[in-house]
Amino acid sequence: MRRTALAAVFLAALAGQGAWVVHTQPAAKPPGPLRIEKVKGDLYLISGEGGNVAVYVTGEGVVLVDDMFDRNHADILAQVKSITDQPLKYVINTHQHDDHAGGDFKMLPIAEVIAHKNARANLVHIRQPYYEDTPGTPIGLPRLTFSDEASVFLGGKEVRAKYFGRGHTSGDAVVYFPELKVVHTGDLFLGRRAPSTSPTGRDNATAQPRPAGVNIYVDYAQGGSFYDWTKTLDGALTLDFDTVIPGHGPVSTKADVVKFRGDIETMRTRLAGMVRQGKTKDDMVNTLEADYGWRAKGCPPSPPTPGCLQFQQADSMFAELKRGPR
Ligand SMILES: [Zn+2]
Repeated sequence: MRRTALAAVFLAALAGQGAWVVHTQPAAKPPGPLRIEKVKGDLYLISGEGGNVAVYVTGEGVVLVDDMFDRNHADILAQVKSITDQPLKYVINTHQHDDHAGGDFKMLPIAEVIAHKNARANLVHIRQPYYEDTPGTPIGLPRLTFSDEASVFLGGKEVRAKYFGRGHTSGDAVVYFPELKVVHTGDLFLGRRAPSTSPTGRDNATAQPRPAGVNIYVDYAQGGSFYDWTKTLDGALTLDFDTVIPGHGPVSTKADVVKFRGDIETMRTRLAGMVRQGKTKDDMVNTLEADYGWRAKGCPPSPPTPGCLQFQQADSMFAELKRGPR
């Protein structure tokens, strides 16, 4: 039962006792401004808040990849309307986090929502820290799921969702646009803005260069894996593409994904070596913070805080590094 339903039961119970309560919730965050840009051909990108949304226009309707937060719904529809009169037909989720699939509830009455079966299962059995950017936001459950691959054929075009294994979560889909040689990676890959600065923005010209690393988030509670992540990217890299829409950040190239994958492996190999030599979880966390710009100190267990996400599950990361690859 979801909290909204629980709240309703609670209120009903109170009403039955003749009590009168005012149900208060934290003020909802207003939606941030969105923008739309052309990626290639009939493929567009909506960004500005939450995860990147891909918009593929066909002569028979529109396919979206991801739908941001619940609060972005109206603006996403307006952005689509600004480039086409075609109706929205399908939404493919890259994964279940609410900055990517938070709009599902409002999409379900107007489009078919498709997700990997693990992403749907994660939505059914939410385990923290599923992002709850807007507490109380209803969760929409996709009506269609797939295990290895699913394609939408619309207006003579294809959009193919592929599952290559675990990484960011247990249900990460890589969405491929074969005619355009473009992929949307969800959060398996994060684009970096140039010129690069550290994830904390603390770098300057005199700072020591940092070892290559990436500010990824392994959501262990939702089935993520640091070890499988690179194998999953290897699977995605077998696709024939040149242009990449990352989960967050600017449109990138296949070479950027290759570098990102290599940086994950280098960072992971170093950390795993430390753990095998008997270093502690705190040593691991200190290294991530000092050398890779991850944020550990002062991060609350909840709500999710920008730059802090990784350390909500440091115990799980330490355990996986100790165990080694499966
Ligand atoms: Zn995510």
